Amino acid sequence: MEARTGRVAVIGSLNMDLVVRAPRLPQPGETLAGTAFDQVPGGKGANQAVAAARLGAQVGMLGRLGQDANGTQLLQAMQDEGIDCSRIGRDATHPTGVALIVVDDASQNTIVIIAGSNGALDTAAVEAHADLIAQADVVVCQLEVPEATVLAALRRAHALGRTVILNPAPVTGPLPQGWLENVDFLVPNEVEAAALSGVAVDSPDSARRAARVLQQQGARHVLITLGGQGVFLLPPADAAGNKGIDDDTRGTHYPARRVAAVDTTAAGDTFIGGFAAALAAGRPLDEAVRFGQAAAALSVTRAGAQPSIPYFSEIQPDAP
Ligand code: ADP
Repeated sequence: MEARTGRVAVIGSLNMDLVVRAPRLPQPGETLAGTAFDQVPGGKGANQAVAAARLGAQVGMLGRLGQDANGTQLLQAMQDEGIDCSRIGRDATHPTGVALIVVDDASQNTIVIIAGSNGALDTAAVEAHADLIAQADVVVCQLEVPEATVLAALRRAHALGRTVILNPAPVTGPLPQGWLENVDFLVPNEVEAAALSGVAVDSPDSARRAARVLQQQGARHVLITLGGQGVFLLPPADAAGNKGIDDDTRGTHYPARRVAAVDTTAAGDTFIGGFAAALAAGRPLDEAVRFGQAAAALSVTRAGAQPSIPYFSEIQPDAP
């Protein structure tokens, strides 16, 4: 693996995923016999931190675990990835976050998340560990920790001139005023882009329409991930070579690599981690998007969330 060249700070969630397999999803009130049970490190923050670390960045994470066995196991898993965990606290009053996931034979799932200690990551933690943000080239946030904490991190990162990536997940409606002005790259998937913009997204064309709405709301770069259809990037209207916000041909569709998809869990997290690592290493935007896509495509050929995230040495950015 090449030397870790850029610094990425992730402010976000760590969960223990409790994954149950069953022939079908249970009906309300029904008790079903399942076929398998796994406990796997997860949480969007942790997944994106692991992806950025495996894909070449020096990563530090700000987060909060409980003082329980799940917390100890998650911390060890992050340390094993070479991630700087010195700012991951242990909360005395909340259990470590968990996600209860039921997966059926058709790969449909239901997920219930208990935020636990993630919900106790407060703005004071951002203040106390502002050095993490100050030292980073790229700062990455999601929405699985309290909104006020995310906003404090975005503001601090933007004020310090860091490159700021927000993966607005999970989300149910437009972001409050005052958020997007702190964000350089807004990276939603189709469902999140639709919730944020009010535009249904299922193609590069509809992604362009949604991205334009998000720019009217104040976003700069909008990168909408489209599953097997790839990514749509809408750069800021004032970027070099652009004709202006009224030009409705702006933006670039990057088709996904053709792969035999086995399990798309964590594809988005892998894309974001790879994209962040490449940007932090100083690679041009276009290359960073392709690198993130190459990593994400590899991840969908493998089962599981964190286990499916590839390493730098496995990525061939120039392959078709
Ligand atoms: P999320 O996991 O957040 O829903 P997506 O499903 O949009 O995110 O996937 C993120 C990225 O992963 C896509 O932009 C694409 O690059 C890659 N990807 C996802 N599914 C596939 C697939 N079936 N084939 C190739 N690449 C894929």
